[in-house]
Amino acid sequence: MPTQSAPMSDSMSDDADHLHEECGVLGIWAPGRDVARMAYFGLHALQHRGQESAGIAVGDGSTVLVRKDLGLVSQVFSDSDLSAMPGHVAVGHVRYGTSGAKSWEAAQPHLSAINDVIIALAHNGTLVNSDSLRRELVNLGIPFRSNTDSEVAAKLIGYFTEQTHHLRQGIARTMSMMEGGYAMALVRENALYAFRDPHGIRPLVLGRLADDAGWVVASETCALDILGAQFVREVVPGEIIRISDDGFSSEQGICRDIPANCIFEDVYFARPDSVVFGRSIYSMRYEMGRQLAREAPCDADLVIGVPDSGLPPAEGFAHEMGLPFGEGLIKNRYVARTFIQPTQELRELGVRLKLNALRDNVAGKRLVMIDDSIVRGTTSKQIVRLLKEAGATEVHVRINSPEVSWPCFYGIDTDTQDQLISANKSVEQIRDYIEADSLAFLSVSGLLGSVPMNGYCCACFTGEYPVEIPEGFSKGNFLDGYHPNNLSHASRTSQMRIEDIVREPVTGPRGRGEATSEPIMKEKSE
Ligand code: SF4
Repeated sequence: MPTQSAPMSDSMSDDADHLHEECGVLGIWAPGRDVARMAYFGLHALQHRGQESAGIAVGDGSTVLVRKDLGLVSQVFSDSDLSAMPGHVAVGHVRYGTSGAKSWEAAQPHLSAINDVIIALAHNGTLVNSDSLRRELVNLGIPFRSNTDSEVAAKLIGYFTEQTHHLRQGIARTMSMMEGGYAMALVRENALYAFRDPHGIRPLVLGRLADDAGWVVASETCALDILGAQFVREVVPGEIIRISDDGFSSEQGICRDIPANCIFEDVYFARPDSVVFGRSIYSMRYEMGRQLAREAPCDADLVIGVPDSGLPPAEGFAHEMGLPFGEGLIKNRYVARTFIQPTQELRELGVRLKLNALRDNVAGKRLVMIDDSIVRGTTSKQIVRLLKEAGATEVHVRINSPEVSWPCFYGIDTDTQDQLISANKSVEQIRDYIEADSLAFLSVSGLLGSVPMNGYCCACFTGEYPVEIPEGFSKGNFLDGYHPNNLSHASRTSQMRIEDIVREPVTGPRGRGEATSEPIMKEKSE
């Protein structure tokens, strides 16, 4: 691996030292229930996936109403807002936006009109070919209000639906054109739709409310729990689900491709009480900690974790090593994102706002400190300092994921490669930079052995990207000497014209993947 040095930027917030999920999505079909309030509670459960904006769209049988704004769920909605949104079907969204798109227009759900039909779209993910799709749509005379790929998806669905006169056909054709990682929930006045990219990169689960009262789709099962919905299954990659007065129906919008679930969901993004493929995120992280202890054992007086995602692997590490596990860092749970000016003093304040050392537990002790990842290294350095200032005699850092050396293009806000410390420094150089007494990362095979299934995307560790990255999209993201696989001169769909797709029956992702063996239930009517 190249170890060239590149300057680490000074322009950052304390949050810039973590990968960020860009969104959480939710959909509810529950006639006779207060779906706006249900969406409000469901979004609270997904708040960790995005704190920049929140929104809910409700269908009442004749139209769709949207309320969205910048801020946390609790800041965006008042009781009277929710009372003014009666209906029986809803989608909701929380967003973590990248720096170029912090605007009301970029908040979701995205409202769009298709002739006299109104739709609202909630999207988690990133479309790597959105620029070329947007250009084509603009050439067709379709105007845009934001620079988001979510609006591109909504406009494309609108265009195809107008041409085919069927929303489901519009969604299927749009799926055949979109490339990247996405999970989407869409509401019209009388139906809920949910669909997911053919690799299943971004998560989406289906649940059922008690007493047959309706259905819920969500980014994570913790949102089902808060609504009292039973987990039914994952939304199948490439599947389109439709729920309306006609009942539940499903079909494969495009063929499934090689599975590539985002493994960072299991490492960091998802809540520990969420369940993926039958196992809780908590138990997976616990197992990662045990495996980390087998790979990089360390003698110490106490094992601590960086809250919250570092706590389960710290417990697992301590269990495997036969060492005591305890609290060493206390998190201030009332601090949301803090944008810190680029001075050393204020950056350190940013970390201290969120974390403080528990002096009684750490003073005079040799510590093992477990964290989920190191992105830039600046936060790890400050936490090690906090612990040493509180009297820890040694701080050994163990990371329950491999080194993040490659940027993500599928819905996670990562830096360009020059900002990723593991792309620039060896493990020993990073240890020296963060002032730890020792440092080790979990291996890729150790991580994959800690999770319940095969078929993960690990591109940010390996550079093996499951979906082609158009060179124009990734320009400037890679350092010299790094050669990711699956870089292409142009996107796979760049030779496909939107107008040609209108006329074709959609059968799959054009020459890739295989038809699913999942049972397919045909919808009754559109
Ligand atoms: S590159 Fe990393 S963060 Fe992005 S989808 Fe793949 S595993 Fe997840």
